[in-house]
Amino acid sequence: MERLQKVMSNCGVASRRASEQMILDGRVRVNGVIVRELGTKVKPEQDIILVDGRRLEIQPKHYYLFNKPKGVITTCSDEQGRPTVLDYFKRIKDRIYAIGRLDQNTEGLLLMTNDGELANILMHPGHMVDKTYEVKIKGYIADAVLQQLADGVLLSDGMTAPADVYYVGYDTHTGITSLEITIHEGKNRQVRRMMEHFGYQVHNLRRVQYAFLTLSGVKRGAYRALTREEVMELY
Ligand code: URA
Repeated sequence: MERLQKVMSNCGVASRRASEQMILDGRVRVNGVIVRELGTKVKPEQDIILVDGRRLEIQPKHYYLFNKPKGVITTCSDEQGRPTVLDYFKRIKDRIYAIGRLDQNTEGLLLMTNDGELANILMHPGHMVDKTYEVKIKGYIADAVLQQLADGVLLSDGMTAPADVYYVGYDTHTGITSLEITIHEGKNRQVRRMMEHFGYQVHNLRRVQYAFLTLSGVKRGAYRALTREEVMELY
């Protein structure tokens, strides 16, 4: 059961506040009865809700965990015709979009949904979602730099918050160092800029975890639906 004004705003009728006013004005019927109570709970899939005599279209909610490949852009349409995340979701007829974004050259975990409320919650700057990245850079890295990455780095838009930085190893054949960095905020291109601050070009960047969700079992370019429990835990 969900609150009527929430169902109305989720369906794009109007904002939550404006939907409340429509209810108070007697413009909303549930199963044939005008409802003026703001606390009224409804079953969106079952109840017949009419606003100004028009039936509310209840869109099913979609939640997917996508393993974005490199080279794919997160925005939904691209003037230059580059592949976008939506090319992988042609089977889904409802309009879905990414929660946040990954750079074109970053691969890994991206959530896709049509639930605007969840997207707003997770993208709100005050809402800390842990995001873990596997970072590969050319060359060695000093312990002092690892410490500074963890403590905070001054970028053009301010200091980064403390991060968890884990040294994975150095490959003598390729000359590549691997790190795992968990950040709790989401500045634009944050991980790349943190590394660039110390003169490192990122060789490969992959998001391997978002909150409690991992890429486990999801191949590059594939996706899976979130379970109901996972969605509830994200809220
Ligand atoms: N940090 C980056 O630099 N790029 C991303 O895509 C995500 C985090």
